[in-house]
Amino acid sequence: MPSDLVIVYHRQPYEEVEENGKIVFKENKSPNGIVPTLKGFFGRVDKGAWVAWKLAEDPANPGFERIVEIEDSYGTYSVSRLPLTEDHVKSFYHVTSKEAFWPILHSFKEKYNYDPVDWPTFREVNWAFAEAAAHEAAEGAVVWVHDYNLWLVPGYLRKLRPDLRISFFHHTPFPSADMFNVLPWRREIVESLLACDVVGFHIPRYAANFVGVAESLFEVETGPREPVNPDFIKQHVALSDRKVAREVTYKGHRVQVLASPVGVDLEYIEGKAGTQETTDRAAEIRAEMGDTAMVLSVGRTDYTKGGTDQLSSFERILDDNPDLHRKVRLLHVSVSANRNMTVYEGIQNEIEATVGRINGRFGTFDWTPVTLMSRAIPFDDLVAYYRACDVAWITPLADGMNLVAKEFAACRTDNRGALVLSEFAGAAIEMGSAVMANPFSHKSMDRALLQALNMSEDEQENRMRNMRETIRKYDIRAWAEDQMAAFSGAGGPL
Ligand code: UDP
Repeated sequence: MPSDLVIVYHRQPYEEVEENGKIVFKENKSPNGIVPTLKGFFGRVDKGAWVAWKLAEDPANPGFERIVEIEDSYGTYSVSRLPLTEDHVKSFYHVTSKEAFWPILHSFKEKYNYDPVDWPTFREVNWAFAEAAAHEAAEGAVVWVHDYNLWLVPGYLRKLRPDLRISFFHHTPFPSADMFNVLPWRREIVESLLACDVVGFHIPRYAANFVGVAESLFEVETGPREPVNPDFIKQHVALSDRKVAREVTYKGHRVQVLASPVGVDLEYIEGKAGTQETTDRAAEIRAEMGDTAMVLSVGRTDYTKGGTDQLSSFERILDDNPDLHRKVRLLHVSVSANRNMTVYEGIQNEIEATVGRINGRFGTFDWTPVTLMSRAIPFDDLVAYYRACDVAWITPLADGMNLVAKEFAACRTDNRGALVLSEFAGAAIEMGSAVMANPFSHKSMDRALLQALNMSEDEQENRMRNMRETIRKYDIRAWAEDQMAAFSGAGGPL
């Protein structure tokens, strides 16, 4: 049966595990995260489908069923698995997407690596995704494509199936034309995006940048610049904007440009934060800390997250404030990328070396200033750390949204704790009551952490209440409603 909603996302929507020699599909353990959020949309349609890739030695004989039917608590949906070889995945994902697109999206021109890109392979893989989506979609269905590694899918899909409503969501930042146009494939990418009915971003700045890029490359007609939702205007935040165009028209085709920040499932996280297990675990963590203030930093090991810059700030603070020795500890969670990319290896080494230096310089037998964790903490545990810490220190150099900041606030039903947030994380336009830090300024970084460490309980409470109010208003349901409204604005059946 053809589907009313086809989600195209590179990863499969479940964990595939072998049990007693049989492959079984297991629902993701935690409903937290983007995959379960997207699956939630299947509850709104009669029939849904998901298109993802799956590793195969020989794509002609993959040794698995191309399409499987799944029935789980989210509904009944098909999953179409594109067989890709290891070489395909390396080329389209690890090289073109991560070495060429990722640095440009996050405005790191110097990390951009053009040489190893095999553009024909990128096209080929995107074409395969488009064909698979076209195969699943009912007449007039909505096809919802996710993220830059599938940038060419909308253009191909429009050729294959002009009847479809196509929506594309970017989970990353989107840079201005002087940055984006470094990509030699810029016209092909943007022309594909202009084949969509809806192009979505987290925040108005990224939407405005996209419109600017489209204007730089094509004869487009841009709709009027309209005022941004006042809740998202923060004059002390670098990413805040006041006006944004909401549509562009290209060759007579109208494209809606949507800015809608993805939120967290507040109810679910609050529930987790309130369990006896979490309370006990948080108390254990606190007991281990003694009367030392606990600063928590959580992110992936990626140059965009600014891990080394943050550690250097901590080192400066310890240098300048001997009174803080033995009084503060930093738990730096930097989940290492599970792939052999030299750029990530370099950062991992840098982080390890910096942590080693700080602990060597300042540590004593009974006080280790920084604890580094490179393994992912399961979400249930992370919630206990969010509850136990005094300060969450989240200072990426560039970040599409940053859910860690929102999860931290979601957990603090006690209205305690301080958040230091980079003004270059998308979340900053919502969470203006955080202590803002500019990670490109030593002074700003150091001052922000000191301010958070010295914050009175009253001030913590005021700021936390404000942040929690915003993340409640713009939680995951609000995002889902925005997306649904955009689909129907695009004339879709949903
Ligand atoms: N996360 C986790 N364990 C860890 C570190 C991170 O479960 O040890 C989760 C975290 O709860 C959040 C996600 O990973 O939901 C990271 O999302 P974010 O938007 O902050 O950053 P991204 O990795 O997508 O750039």
